[in-house]
Amino acid sequence: MSKSTRLDPKENDPKNLPIYQHKAKLVQAVKDSTFLVITGETGSGKTTQLPKYLHQAGFCKDGKIGITQPRRVAAITVAQRVAHEMQCTLGREVGYQVRFDDCTSESTEVKYMTDGCLLREILADPILPHYSVVILDEVHERSLNTDILLGLLKKRFSNPAKAPKGRASPLKVVVMSATLETDKLSAFLGDCPVFAIPGRMFPVTSTFGFAVGPKDFESTGYMKEVVKVALDVHTSEMAGDILVFLTGQSEIERACDMLYEKAESIDYRYDVLDQTVEGLLILPLYGSMPTDQQRQIFQPPPPGIRKCVVATNIAATSLTIDGIKYIIDSGFVKQLNHNSRVGMDILEVVPISKSEAQQRAGRAGRTSAGKCFRIYNKEFWEKCMPEYTVPEIQRTSLTAVILTLKFPYPDCPEERFILEALKQLYQFDAIDRRGRVTRLGELMVEFPLHPGLTRALLKAASLGCQDLLLPVAAMLSVENIFIRPGHPEKQKEADQQHKALAAKSGSMNDFATLLSVFQSCQSSDRPSAWCKDHWVHWRALKSAFSVETQLRDILLRLQQKRDFPEETFDGNKSELFRRCLCSGYFTNVARRSIGKVFCTMDGHGSMVHIHPASSLFDQEGELNWIIFHDVLVTSRMYVRTACPIRYEWVKDLLPKLHEVDVYELSSVAREEVTEEEMKKWESREAAKRPAEVSTEDV
Ligand code: ADP
Ligand code: MG
Repeated sequence: MSKSTRLDPKENDPKNLPIYQHKAKLVQAVKDSTFLVITGETGSGKTTQLPKYLHQAGFCKDGKIGITQPRRVAAITVAQRVAHEMQCTLGREVGYQVRFDDCTSESTEVKYMTDGCLLREILADPILPHYSVVILDEVHERSLNTDILLGLLKKRFSNPAKAPKGRASPLKVVVMSATLETDKLSAFLGDCPVFAIPGRMFPVTSTFGFAVGPKDFESTGYMKEVVKVALDVHTSEMAGDILVFLTGQSEIERACDMLYEKAESIDYRYDVLDQTVEGLLILPLYGSMPTDQQRQIFQPPPPGIRKCVVATNIAATSLTIDGIKYIIDSGFVKQLNHNSRVGMDILEVVPISKSEAQQRAGRAGRTSAGKCFRIYNKEFWEKCMPEYTVPEIQRTSLTAVILTLKFPYPDCPEERFILEALKQLYQFDAIDRRGRVTRLGELMVEFPLHPGLTRALLKAASLGCQDLLLPVAAMLSVENIFIRPGHPEKQKEADQQHKALAAKSGSMNDFATLLSVFQSCQSSDRPSAWCKDHWVHWRALKSAFSVETQLRDILLRLQQKRDFPEETFDGNKSELFRRCLCSGYFTNVARRSIGKVFCTMDGHGSMVHIHPASSLFDQEGELNWIIFHDVLVTSRMYVRTACPIRYEWVKDLLPKLHEVDVYELSSVAREEVTEEEMKKWESREAAKRPAEVSTEDV
């Protein structure tokens, strides 16, 4: 290992973390049983320290130590931290793997990864031969992938007599959770032992606000209130850093802009109570941020400067920032929910649960007593906030369907979600009426994309025009590429640039705009300057370039197989492009109803509007049929990323939406399947999550 990076003596010594006292006992506990549940306050050192202890204790002799995280940022930053503590280069002994980004090597012994990555691995090889220990972390978050992993690991490894053969030594499974729902977990895992790391918490006083009540449920006024309270705290509270909870990237960026602007007019001679405070350092924190910026979050601010981190829920449990004394809680979170009005999974802004609010408040009491300012009132707390957060497996659609019937879960998903998922797979021709995976389904499984997008891509490939769809699929898999500045003047300028980009693509088609942006930037001599000029996120485009290459590689590999489908088409390029899109987006067709209102054709008949950011927004007249990528639900339902189509192009596809009753498929769902079919079903799982609505990034 390289000794070049020494830990700074001023830095927090990991030996001071609560977990350190229990090192020997913890290592022994892992040795003693197949399954072990570990619980401890957030910040006690579970995620960063336990893998290190196991590594030191020689657990890597027979295989790697794998640690899963529901969120990609957590996997990346924690791996960075641990590599730093272990004084090795990231990607060597300590590495990470998240979707579209593998930073591991032959020599990797401690591997942090998203739960989705481990799921893919276990589906590819059920015995996980390369691992000696698997640690499922942040289990209290109850992410869908972690729940499925729990079910799979329980089934495969809980009975030593029936444990799968072919491993050098038995697999150890450790399950870590920040909250104390551990009895249920332990019971689920055959009454396995529970190791509780005693906490060390200082008192936190929480106060309710006045501004947000039950009636403000759907407005976004809370963001402005959050900014106001943050400034109040900065000027009227003693030194100590602030952590603000908001819901997502664009909102956070706007809040930071506003904070920045307002903080400029503070006169530190008169306006601040604590005269040692001389400035405010504002830092955003959300899932798809570049990692070098994320690193700044953890560094202590310069003397006299108060740090204010404006974060998504990621800072609630996955990441711990030292020095936080004040919490400002918006009361909202962005969550993936199955929306039965539209019949799909949508990222929605919803009130957090009471237990979540307590968790957020607790982040202020790690190193000294703290304060939590809730911007919502008591009535909001009582009427709008549920006691606990419902697990993702119970609130999202499941394409992981059959699995759920074959494996036990800590909480069972609702059958109607399972059936919905089966129906979708059938509509995309990924399975047949009997629930068997089709040839197309086998190809689709290979792509880590939403099945609809995959299908459009495969259609394009069979017609030899994958160059049109690969960039689009990549652009839809990364964060929003269009910058939305907080300042109204700048917003105007950005809007103009974005309109010009849409016009440049030649057709009023948001998918074509994405393609054109991708190509223009790629062929530019100075791509980063090009992005700046056009108000486009350069880092998002960089990710899109990398994702496109990866998708291209997958496709090339599949095309080399003998029976890759081939078709021909004669028509112009714009029609070809849109027809390919139709083959994947026929589930998202809408027809003009009255005025600017469109009606979806999926059987739900939802009324939708075109989002102002779409190039179709101002279009009148001709526009009768459209397909769209996703729906944004605010006071209205908006479709974004849309394009005009002709009815003839979807005419033959639409009946598929109504052809089969979900209840007809329920018999398929219950049918006993053979081991071989089971394997196929499992690999279906790999393609399951719609990339564009993944909460990994929030
Ligand atoms: P837990 O998993 O129990 O919530 P962690 O292992 O994540 O705890 O964090 C323990 C401590 O490690 C934190 O209090 C923080 O001081 C430090 N830490 C974690 N991640 C980082 C990082 N990326 N940079 C600097 N310090 C970090
Ligand atoms: Mg942790």
